[in-house]
Amino acid sequence: MSQRAYATLFGDLLADFDHFKSNIRLGLEACEQAILDLGESIHHADKTMEPIESNGILKLIDGFKQLVDAHQLNEIKKSIVQNMRTNLVAGKSVDGTQMDTVDLDDAEAFMDRFANATENDPLNGVEKFSEHFAKKVKQAKVKYAKKSEEEKYEAFPAYVAMREKLWSINHSEPFSFDGVAEREEEDDELAIVGQATNYKCPLTAALMTEAWRSKACKHHFSSAIKQHIAMARGAPAECPVSGCNKYVRLADLERDRLFEKRAMRYEQEMEEEADRVAQTQDITQLD
Ligand SMILES: [Zn+2]
Repeated sequence: MSQRAYATLFGDLLADFDHFKSNIRLGLEACEQAILDLGESIHHADKTMEPIESNGILKLIDGFKQLVDAHQLNEIKKSIVQNMRTNLVAGKSVDGTQMDTVDLDDAEAFMDRFANATENDPLNGVEKFSEHFAKKVKQAKVKYAKKSEEEKYEAFPAYVAMREKLWSINHSEPFSFDGVAEREEEDDELAIVGQATNYKCPLTAALMTEAWRSKACKHHFSSAIKQHIAMARGAPAECPVSGCNKYVRLADLERDRLFEKRAMRYEQEMEEEADRVAQTQDITQLD
């Protein structure tokens, strides 16, 4: 089987899909950073506000979703081309129907014949190739457009991760899409007082300037958690947060730099607050 012929035919095309994909990934990362930065500053300016409700954030999330759509369409196109290649390699036509045996070992002859194929030629030329591709893409687009928002985005890990990080800017409880929906309903009925996130390590009671999050229960710890796990000597180590019945494992720990940034800012705010109180006291003492 002529690997060379197919490598020439499909190699560049498939590489283009991968190239596009990595550019989309960069776009998603940049978009996430913009969302989180804006979310942080909104929260910093007004603790009672939900960042997700700001127009700026919603616009950026729309942009994020469009990138997800572009990513998914690119994946679909790539798999269509891969299927066509598989069919050709198996000696079939691009759409999977059987065709006459063709000498596929001569790459040059194959390409030549492919480009100049007449209606009666089993290879049936470029037109059949592009026609088939266009038809398949159209079908896939229709199918994708019918999907719900949940199906499109809540199953896309980078989208979920972004929403989770955005949520954690002003919430300490774990994120869920249902929770957001419930909360949005509740909002009209009762004003939710911004819950102070605990930035102190449950083990050392010191500010978490280095924060590790357990994927199992989403609780945060300083690096002391590693010692805590080591001390269990292989036995399951209980999460040190009181009331949490989950176990913490090394493999579940991930560094949370966003949380660290917030912890630092929180401390800064506390210091500023303390300064203000001290100044007020100075003034009172002057009276
Ligand atoms: Zn826990």
